[in-house]
Amino acid sequence: MADATTPLTRDDWHGRAATLRPEGRHFIGGQLLPSRSGATFDCINPATGAVLAQVAQGDAADIDLAVSTAQAAWADRRWRGLAPRQRMDVLLRFADTLERHADELALLETLDMGKPISDVLNIDLPEVLRTIRYFAECIDKIDGAVTHTAPGSLHMIVHEPLGVVGAISPWNYPLLMAIWKVAPALAAGNCVVLKPSEQAPLSCIRMAQLFVESGGPAGVFNVVNGLGPEAGKALALHPDVAKLTFTGSTAVGKLLLAYAGQSNMKRVALETGGKSPQIFFDDVYDLDAAVDRAIGGIYDNAGQVCNAGSRLLVQRGIHDAFVARFVERSAQLYTPGDPLDPATTLGPVVSAAHRGNVLAHVERAREQGAHQAMGDADAAMPDTGAFVAPTLFTGTNGAMDINRLEVFGPVASVMAFDTEDEAIALANDSVYGLAAAVWTADLNRAHRCVGALEAGVVWVNCFGDGDMTQPFGGYKQSGNSRDKHIDSLRSYMQGKSAWFNLG
Ligand code: NAD
Repeated sequence: MADATTPLTRDDWHGRAATLRPEGRHFIGGQLLPSRSGATFDCINPATGAVLAQVAQGDAADIDLAVSTAQAAWADRRWRGLAPRQRMDVLLRFADTLERHADELALLETLDMGKPISDVLNIDLPEVLRTIRYFAECIDKIDGAVTHTAPGSLHMIVHEPLGVVGAISPWNYPLLMAIWKVAPALAAGNCVVLKPSEQAPLSCIRMAQLFVESGGPAGVFNVVNGLGPEAGKALALHPDVAKLTFTGSTAVGKLLLAYAGQSNMKRVALETGGKSPQIFFDDVYDLDAAVDRAIGGIYDNAGQVCNAGSRLLVQRGIHDAFVARFVERSAQLYTPGDPLDPATTLGPVVSAAHRGNVLAHVERAREQGAHQAMGDADAAMPDTGAFVAPTLFTGTNGAMDINRLEVFGPVASVMAFDTEDEAIALANDSVYGLAAAVWTADLNRAHRCVGALEAGVVWVNCFGDGDMTQPFGGYKQSGNSRDKHIDSLRSYMQGKSAWFNLG
């Protein structure tokens, strides 16, 4: 991390950005390679519109090369054949190397997707390091079993890695979402081909290079850049990929299930969209503190968070106080600004096109009769860049699109409710089920709500809290698997039953 005693200033970061030459090529077999076709696309800084790099636009030929390279590394056992302790040492060195390159990685992340540099340094990168170290430490904690059998037999169950894992990641936390897949896959002994989001690939390319610089064998962790329908689809259809692990939209997740069926029935792990409800009951302990968490739950990372608490269900007795406090505190906590300024708390969204998507949702909410309590008119916006002001709608109901569709931007909506049953019904009225939160001083009610909410993660009197022991993933169309936790490592392995006749 940046030296806490001499934090870099906005000018320091701009000085570094001016001399940075980001790498945009693929990283295959330990080498930086252009696309076989020679095609590239522009990588754009959403805060300025400037072109940061030309990124290799991979297609099926590049995916083929990367998968066969990973397959060769799998076949000669250069990674899975290491003793668990040796793999652990490499991964721990990998985390140390990333930590030494924290400033460089943070700069790439901020320039590429627009998130505030302080967020990358204080949130994303520490989480990346924790993830790698956690899964490294899990490696020798995975046991098999010897079961009870009749005399003359021996039955063992052993866990083995799968082979080549294809990972497809999104842009909202480019390094973190990728490493939630790559770290457990590598820890289990697999070889990986990562296709990062075309919106923000730069930090992932650098991360794969640093794996090899940390002593990771070449060919074990490969990166192919490119567009989803080209490189991503080719990876999902590839017959030599044993498992596809994906974080992204529900629509693309459904396509990947079909591609797996059309090819080799590869396993498909999906972490997809969300529309998470937060329920605030009249008896909430500390309304002011809860409102601050509600604000963070939707405006952190400019709302580009899968589990963003975008639906605020507020009991009628505290509704007006909640809304007034929310508007007042949002202006204090989230000001759009230069993401390279360490004081900035709200950067642009990832692209001008995405800004257009978010604003279309805002317009639609207005058309459908929602009241805009806060938005563009209330925030001083930078002159350039894909900025969207923190936005709040009140007077909304469960039928409005603003409560049904994932906006993936800094836009929250409030629904008033009277009873607990009504709150639960509203909360569960969604195709998504990633996360939910309940705010109440009544423990019995909190416990009832936890049981009734259809979500993979439920927070009580907090939002977004957790550590590596917390499985993260959704119910319903928010996905079919879990990241983090030792079970994630197990999901990159398969069990083999070996029955011995000793008679
Ligand atoms: P996206 O689905 O558009 O893209 C994700 C990845 O899929 C990218 O790498 C993209 O290139 C690739 N892709 C696109 N089309 C493809 C195709 N036809 N075949 C193969 N790959 C293809 O999602 P996004 O816009 O990058 O990310 C935002 C979405 O991710 C939101 O819906 C968000 O909720 C979700 N998300 C979920 C979690 C979670 O843990 N559940 C975490 C972060 C983000």
